[in-house]
Amino acid sequence: MPQNRSYKKKSARSPYLFIALVLVLLTAVLILGTRAMNAWKVYEAEAAVTPAPTPGVRPISVTPDPARVTPPPTAIPTPAPSPTPGLLNSGSQGDEVRRLQVRLQDLGYYRGNIDGDYGTGTKTAVQTFQKINGLDADGIAGQLTQTLLYSDQALPAPGPVDVLANRDTPLLVNAQNPLPDGFEPADLVKVRDVVGNLITYENTGVQAVREAAEALKTMLQDAVNDGYKPWKLREAYRTIADQKRIFNNRVNSYMNENSLTRAQAIARTRQSVADPGASEHHTGLAFDLNVPGESFGETAQYLWLKQHCWDYGFIMRYTDEKSDITGITGEEWHVRYVGLEHSQRMRDLDYCLEEYVEWLKRQ
Ligand SMILES: [Zn+2]
Repeated sequence: MPQNRSYKKKSARSPYLFIALVLVLLTAVLILGTRAMNAWKVYEAEAAVTPAPTPGVRPISVTPDPARVTPPPTAIPTPAPSPTPGLLNSGSQGDEVRRLQVRLQDLGYYRGNIDGDYGTGTKTAVQTFQKINGLDADGIAGQLTQTLLYSDQALPAPGPVDVLANRDTPLLVNAQNPLPDGFEPADLVKVRDVVGNLITYENTGVQAVREAAEALKTMLQDAVNDGYKPWKLREAYRTIADQKRIFNNRVNSYMNENSLTRAQAIARTRQSVADPGASEHHTGLAFDLNVPGESFGETAQYLWLKQHCWDYGFIMRYTDEKSDITGITGEEWHVRYVGLEHSQRMRDLDYCLEEYVEWLKRQ
């Protein structure tokens, strides 16, 4: 039995030993194999990593081995992608707006800052561009507007206009005869540079057409010499963009503070503010004069002006007597330069500008 047992024992031990040996061998192979694989992977990974540049040392650029570069897939011919510009509108910001402003500036439509802010100035410039170029003037730079704007077909802004070029007929501006969008008078100067300290200024940068500013200076010099002073200049040239801002602000305040509908607010605004384009101040030929701290219509300066302005090329543009023709109630502070020949004839005929222009047509 012991033999049997020993045999059994021996014969039982041998397969166990064999299996154990196989297991040890397999484990060894596995461990060695995994290590070898890991080592290879690390090698490969390290070979692929671009060394971090040492500070102060220029990284050496490695030209890839052409044999290892995957060839590009066979190219399918596609047309060059046409840039599809994003829609830009009031409130838009960033580089696209900046690019838009630069282009509008190059074409003569925009004079504001290149600040990347799509504000009123940018919107007005876009609208003018759209009008001049036959597009829907919504002030939104959509795809159609931008495509035309950046193309060779874009029409530039009309240049400054010599508002005194027609010496036969003074320029008439009113609600029925508005100036076109983008209108700008030529030969603008800072009034202060011409008139100096004969008058004080609400806005020292205010501009006017040179010839009108020079006539104002001559007139004020004579008034001051006669003892009629002081004077204050409230308004002169105003851009159509300025007028839009003023008009819209007034409409909004009527809507917010007086709870009017938009249509009601616009109607109310028109009683005191001209529609953009319909103000004489866009011509650079009109001045609003004042006496600081006083109601101008009750001052000696006003009486002097009313009597003498005609001899300096100016007219009292809006009087109560002619308000049914001009459509504007009396503005005793507003004088308009038309040139001496016309101003004196208008005084003699007692015509407002609307009547006078009609009369000239009949001559
Ligand atoms: Zn005025």
